[in-house]
Amino acid sequence: MRLAIAKIDLVALSYNLSKTKQLAPHSKVMAVLKANAYGHGLVTIAQHLTTADAFAVARIDEALALRAGGVTKPIVLLEGFFNKSDLPILLANNFQTIIHDENQLAMLESAELDAPIATWLKVDTGMHRLGIEPSQLEGFYRRLKASKNTHSAVNLMTHFPCADDLNNARTQNQITAFKQLTNDHNEQLCLANSAGILGWTESHCDWIRPGLMIYGVSPMLHCQGVDHGLKPVMRLTTKVIAIRDIPAGEQVGYGGRWQSNQPTKLAVVAMGYGDGYPRHAKHGTPVVIKGHRYGIVGSVSMDMITVDIGENSEQIAVGDEVEMWGPNLAVEEIAECADTIAYELLCNVTPRVGYQYI
Ligand code: PLP
Repeated sequence: MRLAIAKIDLVALSYNLSKTKQLAPHSKVMAVLKANAYGHGLVTIAQHLTTADAFAVARIDEALALRAGGVTKPIVLLEGFFNKSDLPILLANNFQTIIHDENQLAMLESAELDAPIATWLKVDTGMHRLGIEPSQLEGFYRRLKASKNTHSAVNLMTHFPCADDLNNARTQNQITAFKQLTNDHNEQLCLANSAGILGWTESHCDWIRPGLMIYGVSPMLHCQGVDHGLKPVMRLTTKVIAIRDIPAGEQVGYGGRWQSNQPTKLAVVAMGYGDGYPRHAKHGTPVVIKGHRYGIVGSVSMDMITVDIGENSEQIAVGDEVEMWGPNLAVEEIAECADTIAYELLCNVTPRVGYQYI
């Protein structure tokens, strides 16, 4: 039996999707499932997002895994394709693709295809990652419209780098610029990621692209999913595997990076960076055992962490469940303790962890 289990609450998942739809009632939803549905399990999550209109993944292999799992909804490739030989695969599986540069457009135009592929032209309005320059829009748009290899509708997309910060004017500038640029085109527009959906109503256009929020987690600075009425989908748990008496003055764990200043008890917990728990979680990062929070001490090792259970040690026994994050302990809080973001923690859960869907 596995000790480390990610318990995935599919009722919370559906709840978060309906909450998302309430926030943007006039938009269609392209649910973002890349990186194994942010660590929640690609195909099962897709199968339970029954009211999503489409799914988005980064790469072709993720999209193929969805089709192999029986998922029939439209799938958009957020990174597009990289070889001309990918195009028949896109066509055969009914994948839609982003077009974000000249290389892709040229491959698409010159391919010998039996039928057209649906495209999303990605415009870079300020993130400077993927996307064509605003000045290239007209040229790309005309060529896509004219190509026999593309659908006559050319959907238009952009992405926000700073929408998590409501005080950052960049997002409003991007929304304004994108709307001005695309005003004369009667096409479907898609701008909003979770932060756009939660913080920037004007960005809810024909489509929205929620990722993190459907997993019940907040992308907004200094917020947690519950602040937006979302419910965490993942509860990462494990067990206490030993309880140790530690005299005062003893150093604990690799590098002896923590020293007891009084006699105490430690619970040794079966979870480490080999399971995806962050190696840099600082001293005092909480875990929850039997409804109480305790702080981790010493370095996180590959398979274990040590938790100071001090005076409450009588109430804790080997075999007790430990919540590393979930409904009783926000993953956003653990991310802050490890100086990272919740996205990374969720994606980093490793195959050693078992999944239970509830
Ligand atoms: N759209 C694009 C292009 C993305 O890369 C991502 C995720 O990184 C999303 C949408 C979803 O973002 P979020 O998880 O913040 O909702």
